[in-house]
Amino acid sequence: MAGPCSVENEDQLLSTAAAVKAAGAKVLRGGAYKPRTSPYEFQGLGREGLRLLALAREQTGLKIITEVLSERDVEHVAEVADILQIGARNGQNFQLLIEAARTGKPILLKRGMSERIEEWLLASEYILAHGNPNVLLCERGIRTFETYTRNTLDLAAVAVAKRESHLPVIVDPSQGCGRADLVIALCCGAVATGADGLLVEVHPNPAEALSDGQQQVDFATFRKLVQAIRPFLVAANKAG
Ligand code: PEP
Ligand code: MN
Repeated sequence: MAGPCSVENEDQLLSTAAAVKAAGAKVLRGGAYKPRTSPYEFQGLGREGLRLLALAREQTGLKIITEVLSERDVEHVAEVADILQIGARNGQNFQLLIEAARTGKPILLKRGMSERIEEWLLASEYILAHGNPNVLLCERGIRTFETYTRNTLDLAAVAVAKRESHLPVIVDPSQGCGRADLVIALCCGAVATGADGLLVEVHPNPAEALSDGQQQVDFATFRKLVQAIRPFLVAANKAG
């Protein structure tokens, strides 16, 4: 799964969709509703972003994953999304999990940034217990004392989740380290550790991105990434 952190405009989204599809991605990511640390930063295009995501699907055939930030938005986000993303900041927003579960759409549940593995797995059970079996667990880095990287990607959590749960485990190396230059290495490590999928931020011009510019990879780097993970996919019997 790959695409921009935020949906910014039609050109940005459609060019990224075409590039990640050509490189082998199956799902297009892009936030229309953005949970930003500062209220003065870009908050996403909202419904216009959803319209652009639907257009990108129409043009490329890629499935769409996008974040739903609040219960209020569940219904109209679910009209466009093939997979609903629950963000790290909402990892234990149980009412939101229940509302999202009721749509019947697959749900990618990010691990909260200070969430224990057990809490993350129990959060996933809120979705399962409300009749929706289609949950993807997503490790996206946790807060530690380390500041060299934005978060500390916890690959041990991937191994634990694979052991303790039957659910597919996805790794988001982009939020996981916050640095474009580390994304390929972490993707290789994630696949080697048993991850079933990757969620990677890709932008046509990361330096001009409206959110998370320092961690988004450009198209050429994404093509390199797809090549770099190949031997690890083959070793894990997941090359397709
Ligand atoms: C994102 O995927 O752009 C995002 C905001 O992720 P997280 O919820 O993991 O911070
Ligand atoms: Mn992001």
